[in-house]
Amino acid sequence: MSATIIDGKAYAAGLRTRIAEAVADMARQGATPGLAVVIVGEDPASQIYVKNKARQTVEVGMRSFEHVLPASTSEAELLGLVAQLNADPAVDGILVQLPLPKQIDAQKVIEAIDPAKDVDGFHPVNAGKLMTGVPGFVSCTPLGCLLLIQSVRKDIAGLDAVVIGRSNIVGKPMAQLLIGQSCTVTVAHSKTRDLPEVCRRADILVAAVGRPEMVRGDWVKPGAIVIDVGINRVPNLAAGEGKTRVVGDVAYAEAAERASAITPVPGGVGPMTIACLLRNTLQAACIRRGLPMPA
Ligand code: NDP
Repeated sequence: MSATIIDGKAYAAGLRTRIAEAVADMARQGATPGLAVVIVGEDPASQIYVKNKARQTVEVGMRSFEHVLPASTSEAELLGLVAQLNADPAVDGILVQLPLPKQIDAQKVIEAIDPAKDVDGFHPVNAGKLMTGVPGFVSCTPLGCLLLIQSVRKDIAGLDAVVIGRSNIVGKPMAQLLIGQSCTVTVAHSKTRDLPEVCRRADILVAAVGRPEMVRGDWVKPGAIVIDVGINRVPNLAAGEGKTRVVGDVAYAEAAERASAITPVPGGVGPMTIACLLRNTLQAACIRRGLPMPA
């Protein structure tokens, strides 16, 4: 069997085009949505993410407010900035890039963000809304995964889904979204017994682990939809000393022989995360202005 390759890059581009059209309509009415991104410190990966977020925010026509703070920033200073952004009418969405330096309690910062501007969906109010089936902001990466699953199969009710990983930002919200779609969901983690056997039951397999190519081809049920969230940098021996490449949590070539559809890494889930952040920001802007969310 040769799997359909789920092109997250193309899907995300289409999503951004639709967002840009809606933003243009709002801009004509003088109501351009705005996204504030806060980064503390000099983590190179975080800096790349923040640059990409800012660029794509501007590309869809939204206003981007970047706040770059030194690594020595205190918790009180960061909470002060969050309070200022909560009160700023030009700001519809607030994202504080994680991880934060040691002196700052990330949970405290997440809880300080106005849930109505929490476009990352990390605030306990939004996590609770997802859990109870009330509309709110859904964490961007799992939301992107669900859209990709539905791009190959609209109705997933009754399917067996296995999510590997139980983090608050990927695994748990992913499981909740799949429960919301009436899947029968198993959440696996580092203490799960016989993980390969658990995975073999999955019609939908989502890997969010952070271990390069851990999920082997023979863990995949023939015909399964495989979503690989992992981003792992490994040595690229073919390219030479010190070179690296990015691989997912799934051994792609092996898994693609059994899956009906699979996301590549890169080019699968990754591009969806920022697109969903922009979608959440549009949603926040529509709610704050009393406008319906465009389809
Ligand atoms: P975390 O480290 O927070 O969570 C990893 C999860 O995997 C934990 O629940 C852990 O279990 C579980 N796990 C670890 N080892 C094993 C194992 N051997 N067998 C089974 N389960 C295991 O990671 P995140 O959820 O933040 O991210 C997961 C991956 O997704 C990473 O590669 C990350 O880079 C990537 N990512 C990609 C994004 C994107 O935009 N594409 C966005 C966010 C993350 P336990 O709870 O028991 O420790």
